[in-house]
Amino acid sequence: MEMSTKSLRAYVETYGCQMNISDGELMEGVLESHGYRIVDRPEDADVVIVNTCAIREHAEQRVLGRVSQLNGLKLERPELVIGVTGCMAQRMGDDLLERAPYIDLVMGPDGYRELPSHLQRLRAGGGLQGEEEGVRPVGKVPLQSGPVSKTGKRRIQLSVLDLDPRENYEGLEQRRRSGVAAWIPIQRGCDHRCTYCIVPYVRGPEKNRKPDEVLREVEEVVRSGISEVTLLGQTVNSYVHDDWAFPRLLRAVARVPGIRRVRFTSPHPNDVTPELVEVMAEEPAVCEQLHLPAQSGNDRTLKRMVRRYTVATFLEKVAMVRSAIPDISLSTDIIVGFPGETDSEFRDTLDLMRTVRFDDAFTYKYSLRDGTPATRLPESDFVELNVAQARLEELIEVSRGIQAEINESEIGRVDEVLVEREARDPGQMLGRTRRNKVVAFPGSPEIVGSYVPVELTATTGATFRGEKVAIPATVGRV
Ligand code: SF4
Repeated sequence: MEMSTKSLRAYVETYGCQMNISDGELMEGVLESHGYRIVDRPEDADVVIVNTCAIREHAEQRVLGRVSQLNGLKLERPELVIGVTGCMAQRMGDDLLERAPYIDLVMGPDGYRELPSHLQRLRAGGGLQGEEEGVRPVGKVPLQSGPVSKTGKRRIQLSVLDLDPRENYEGLEQRRRSGVAAWIPIQRGCDHRCTYCIVPYVRGPEKNRKPDEVLREVEEVVRSGISEVTLLGQTVNSYVHDDWAFPRLLRAVARVPGIRRVRFTSPHPNDVTPELVEVMAEEPAVCEQLHLPAQSGNDRTLKRMVRRYTVATFLEKVAMVRSAIPDISLSTDIIVGFPGETDSEFRDTLDLMRTVRFDDAFTYKYSLRDGTPATRLPESDFVELNVAQARLEELIEVSRGIQAEINESEIGRVDEVLVEREARDPGQMLGRTRRNKVVAFPGSPEIVGSYVPVELTATTGATFRGEKVAIPATVGRV
């Protein structure tokens, strides 16, 4: 039975990284192109999609709490469809349907192209109005019997969990939430096997989009009035498609007429090559910012993480980037308490922080993920939670101290700020500099989307306050 989706409303709630946020926009685009209206509240929706992250246990617990809350809406409106998508859906699969039987659909990151047809199946055969009979599994989608409803009728649940080594969502339109800056996914999946990481198992191997498709999308983004793009991939700088390696693509994107800022995330340190650094230094649109995940400052830990670099080679990359782009702002990711990490190895990480002096750091306690190689390390290696917590707190203190020192030294700079939105404080606007520093300054909503020269006048440590100035930005390469 063909059901019209014209009147249906969908709400997508996303957790996790930029790639997942971009996937949320992709699902909204797919749903919109099939007649759904995207709404801002689950209370207003016929279909609620919770787009999840599996990187840490804490993130998954949060999602379980959230779907149980959404079940409250389903109790009031039994026809509401609840879907859980993304990395956690892929990781937990059918267990999720058992643990939370009110979920109608679990769908991994490679299933979004067919999202509308699966929703249609659920609505045609599911909810509390239909019977299970007459609804057939589609393709490789296994059909499961759902729980028995109060009325005695059964509803169906669907799980769509096949990883497709070719699916890179070529040709689908994202529904961009920001009118100021755009995420452009150029790659999905990952060919590395860092021993703590679940990503390769829930997102499959690396799949790169065609360069002409990427460039076409960037041109479209420019036509829509956006001039800042961030190229996205799990190891974005390992991108390769025929004779297009990442530096060539980055240069081409930076030269699309109308593009004023280009960023990319997350790169793998090993693919920070002289060619890439040359493009970053030469192309005026490429921002003076690089996120370079170190994960640890100790060689033995890096080896057991299978990061495939040493502290020395990591520092060589930092030196290469800084010598070509002295003003570059660097950020990183660090995991503490990886199994087997000794106190002195943790101190090596603190040393790395003090040596590099990152502008920003995203810091985490190791989180055990079933199915990852690190879970097979001897149990005696696992760092006690209170020890890991104490290390994390010490790391945060060191990292925040360095960040505050760097930011205080930048007071008085004039930077070009791309205005993103209103700040919480009335009369204040929020934006970002090319070096990815967040600045709040007095202004009104009409200036969202414009580039404004702002003098940095104060810092909270992590972010800045500023004042608009009349002269053009003197720092950066506009
Ligand atoms: S490079 Fe390592 S940490 Fe990054 S997504 Fe791949 S496996 Fe995970």
